[in-house]
Amino acid sequence: MTRFHAVVAFIAMLTSSAVAADSTKDVSLIVPEFTKIQPDLEALYKDLHQHPEIAFHEIRTADQLAKRLKALGYEVTTGVGKTGIVALLRNGPGPVIMLRTEIDALPVEEKTGLAFASKATMRNDAGVTVPLAHACGHDLHMTGWVGTATVMAGRKDRWHGTLMLVGQPAEEIVGGAAAMLADGLFSRFPKPDIVIGIHDEPTLPSGQVGFHAGFFRASADTIEVTIFGRGGHGAYPQRAVDPIVIAARSVLGIQTIISRETNPLSPAVITVGAIHGGTVANIIPDQVQMLLTVRAFDPKVREHLLAAIKRQLDAEATAADAPAMPSIKIIGGTDAVYNDPELTAHIIEVLGRDLGAGSVREMPAQMGSEDFSQYGRAGAKAVLLHIGAVDPAELASGRTLPGLHSPQWAPQLEPTLRSMVTAEVVVLTDLFTAPR
Ligand SMILES: [Zn+2]
Ligand SMILES: [Zn+2]
Repeated sequence: MTRFHAVVAFIAMLTSSAVAADSTKDVSLIVPEFTKIQPDLEALYKDLHQHPEIAFHEIRTADQLAKRLKALGYEVTTGVGKTGIVALLRNGPGPVIMLRTEIDALPVEEKTGLAFASKATMRNDAGVTVPLAHACGHDLHMTGWVGTATVMAGRKDRWHGTLMLVGQPAEEIVGGAAAMLADGLFSRFPKPDIVIGIHDEPTLPSGQVGFHAGFFRASADTIEVTIFGRGGHGAYPQRAVDPIVIAARSVLGIQTIISRETNPLSPAVITVGAIHGGTVANIIPDQVQMLLTVRAFDPKVREHLLAAIKRQLDAEATAADAPAMPSIKIIGGTDAVYNDPELTAHIIEVLGRDLGAGSVREMPAQMGSEDFSQYGRAGAKAVLLHIGAVDPAELASGRTLPGLHSPQWAPQLEPTLRSMVTAEVVVLTDLFTAPR
């Protein structure tokens, strides 16, 4: 049995025992300090919720977080990777452990009906006024992060090392992690041995921690394509080269890359999300534009997909005798999130021990992407966990419930916030003190 398979077997054992015992302990006893800071954290949550800011515009948000962490005695640097923040608590020799929260919101109009719903708007980079909401729950992540910062600062006698709290901008456009790393996140500041992140989850009951060892989120690349033809009258196709037909054949050809060229056991997705060309019925246009998203877990599969898409597009253009090969631009990709299997197993064991076996649940990998991947790529052992944020009764109702990015997404604040802080404190304390 390989080490990875041993880890998988161990996780399977944990999960089955979780189902059998389904025990969760009284979380309020594990981090009793939470009760004292809860009203303040809830006020912070509502404030952040009402003041969402989009990617790389998180000025007020970063300022609020920086003020709080400075007051707690953290060494705070702002403006890292444009609007990111780094807060260090140096507490003697020991490992450097990073806890990441995202700080950005989405251009979504909130329709939760909450008393503290966001009514905010902002001009985006294109000069368009857009509605804003924390429809992905990053306000919850920030609030939990501040709660954990508070508890860890008050418990310095119980751990040793350097706690590195990172408020990352622009997760929603998968640009913030790369921007912070390019701005010296792992060189101007201590390079973390371990990076942890927790995201709220619409498919798990409030407070339950979801985990997945190995590849957890897919890589993502956007491709902008322009297919060139020769325009002409729709009644005389023999005098033109029709880029609409080239595009139509390309869309189907590209899909066969997944069905015929990749291992069916290695997940991959290519979606043509936009296709634009032509104006009226009787004119053959000279160009068609397409926008694609490409997802994969295995970096080799990703590379193959990107090369095969170009090959298919070029071949269709050649077959149609197009005047030029298509223009293909690959934009802003992020890598797949890989959760270190041994570290994941260790964290889940610790959470199961302290919070109860029922507090953790294995969840499937997802083709959605997350730039949390970049911290692992930069050399840290990284684990991205999820935490359930839905009333268990609602989940059990069988109704279709809002998911992340929905205008109706509203995580259940209590007990999710308490569980989040508890899980973060338990995991961090263990990682700072466990012999390794
Ligand atoms: Zn999101
Ligand atoms: Zn998110």
